[in-house]
Amino acid sequence: MSDPKIVRTLIETVAMRIIAAADELTALDQAIGDGDHGVNMKRGFEAVLADLDAIAALPLPQALNKVGMTLVMKVGGASGPLYGTLFMQLGKSLPEGANRPALAKALGEAIAAVKARGKSDTGQKTMLDVLAPVHAALGEGRDAAALARIADEAAAATVPMKAIRGRASFLGDRSIGHMDPGARSSAIIVRAVAETAGA
Ligand code: ADP
Ligand code: MG
Repeated sequence: MSDPKIVRTLIETVAMRIIAAADELTALDQAIGDGDHGVNMKRGFEAVLADLDAIAALPLPQALNKVGMTLVMKVGGASGPLYGTLFMQLGKSLPEGANRPALAKALGEAIAAVKARGKSDTGQKTMLDVLAPVHAALGEGRDAAALARIADEAAAATVPMKAIRGRASFLGDRSIGHMDPGARSSAIIVRAVAETAGA
């Protein structure tokens, strides 16, 4: 996975899918937040695309770290530091030429870093409710198509949940009945990675 062409395609695909989904993410955040998740993520991943030549020239771990730093600087909101932490820790934890077990271990460490940063856990209607089941499925050796499907199902499963963390938690019970925007953006990222790297 450290072939520069694959690194480039991987990061470019994730960025383009998130940018294409900006309106959808905004609509989700309008329902239970302040309506900026799509714009926030689009701004961050446009900055990643603007720097794609430099990022894609790096080995995958360093490239992920640089993506994370860009997201911290550009996304803003709650999700900027959290996605930034996710990608930076993935970069730090991933050895070069990583295989699946190494990827599962690195994702576990990245999720732990997000939890520490967000003072959050699964079951609170956030991005973690997608990332954690994907991590579990990765550890079980599920294939790329299954990982993408599990991510979509996990995002859908946030609909009946009550938000305990983030802006949506201010709504209490009124957060029930809507998909969490960060869960949706995480599912989009997982599907993009699965379809690019796992094919
Ligand atoms: P903000 O809430 O500051 O407007 P965004 O709209 O960009 O930021 O991102 C909101 C998303 O961030 C939520 O849908 C949720 O998935 C995620 N999120 C917010 N707070 C936390 C947290 N403490 N831990 C994990 N994820 C969180
Ligand atoms: Mg928001």
